[in-house]
Amino acid sequence: MRKINIFDTTLRDGEQSAGVNLNLHEKLEIARQLERLGVDIIEAGFPAASKGDFQAVQAIAQTVRNCSVTGLSRSVQSDIDAAWEALKDGAEPRLHVFIATSPIHMQYKLRMTPEQVIETAVESVRYAKKYFPIVQWSAEDACRSDLPFLATIIEKVIEAGANVINIPDTVGYITPKQYGDIFSFLKKNVRNIEKISLSAHCHDDLGMAVANSLAAIEAGATQIEGTINGIGERAGNAAIEEVAVALYIRKDYYQAETRLNLQEIKRTSNLVSKLTGMIVPPNKAIVGKNAFAHESGIHQDGVLKEKTTYEIISPQLVGVQSNSMVLGKHSGRHAFRTRIQELGYSLTEEEVNRLFVRFKDLADKKKDITDDDLIALILDERLDTYKNFYQLCSIQVQYGTNQIPTAVVVLKDGEGNDVQEAATGAGSVEALYNALEKALQLPVTLLDYRIESVGSGRDALAQVYVKVSLDGKEASGRGTAQDVLEASAKAYIHAVNRMFVIEKMREEQALAAQ
Ligand SMILES: [Zn+2]
Repeated sequence: MRKINIFDTTLRDGEQSAGVNLNLHEKLEIARQLERLGVDIIEAGFPAASKGDFQAVQAIAQTVRNCSVTGLSRSVQSDIDAAWEALKDGAEPRLHVFIATSPIHMQYKLRMTPEQVIETAVESVRYAKKYFPIVQWSAEDACRSDLPFLATIIEKVIEAGANVINIPDTVGYITPKQYGDIFSFLKKNVRNIEKISLSAHCHDDLGMAVANSLAAIEAGATQIEGTINGIGERAGNAAIEEVAVALYIRKDYYQAETRLNLQEIKRTSNLVSKLTGMIVPPNKAIVGKNAFAHESGIHQDGVLKEKTTYEIISPQLVGVQSNSMVLGKHSGRHAFRTRIQELGYSLTEEEVNRLFVRFKDLADKKKDITDDDLIALILDERLDTYKNFYQLCSIQVQYGTNQIPTAVVVLKDGEGNDVQEAATGAGSVEALYNALEKALQLPVTLLDYRIESVGSGRDALAQVYVKVSLDGKEASGRGTAQDVLEASAKAYIHAVNRMFVIEKMREEQALAAQ
């Protein structure tokens, strides 16, 4: 069996998805879960891009011990210096440095000749090797590059010390056969290719990211880059869970394996979906709600007689729990704390106590508390780090089919003053949001509103995602509560508070740059 390394870029390429912006705590939460999933490398961000990115990469490098943490860097010394500062405390510091190699990118974007590109690439790898034990070099837009040129530049960067060579299909243009052929060509035409490992990075613009990644493995790639749930720039990246399960289920064919703990897949997918607000489609392979649901009578009959008639993947393999009822009204603090630990969260005593109060409160209203409910509670509590901005104190909404929906809200502003406002609207949520907008005295525009239930049953928790804009800037937020209106109000305030945090960070950056 060949070993395939999994390079997760959920926190870098994934975070580039339109409308996604994760804060430090959310990134750390995802990094810890990726570590439990067993990815080999976590690309934590682009340290030179912003102060927030730098801090997140540094915190992740300092926290994660069981995988290598890397950061992206352009081929300039200041980017490499920033990356080293952020990554040096990691278990295995690694740099991911890139430069474009396609004629289109070299001519229009870089405005450099091919010779200048080679020189810059070699210089940056040499410079990076002074600090980093492992340097990965990427040829941006490799798939639209001239192959002999690609072979030449790769040979030169290997000479300069690169350890991993990545061949990204940056624009999602390649087909599986062609992608495999590029790897075969490089294996044949790059003299020192045996010294390094080859990596694939695919985008899903034509829906072929996973197929292309698997074709690369067949042609000799030993590292696959991708994201959880396939999120990422434009149509997204190769979905790591799909690549890993395909290799596992079809090991007879691929003869390759990853070190992923497949049972953590479902939990990782849920976490990433919750924190990014990117909902997983029900028909999505491996992690979609319907991925293991047999609907046709003939199929159901077959599965009841013998599972393998229609089921090639068992839900348990990827951690889908058929029976996830865990705690209830009579569960004590000890059972509660133990379950949280089993779910992989390490909370302080104070956090456990605060959560336990909320858990008891929920258990009074909801009979069975599932793992999903617990995780929703934990995330809601832990990620509510904006207490110094607006705080929701209370809401009251009146609705009747023959009445004008009316909402009253009470907020605490940044200085601790109570602000109370009332408003009407065409519906309950609109009335609520109109009242909140009045209380905030900000021209907030609602761009997106989505509601989901955590688990099933009529007493399930409601989870609301919103995207808002203010003065042309966007932020997303989410809220969890048993009532849909309370969850809606929390999500709105969460988004507005995040907007202020992002703004504050930008101001600090601007000051630092002066
Ligand atoms: Zn990419």
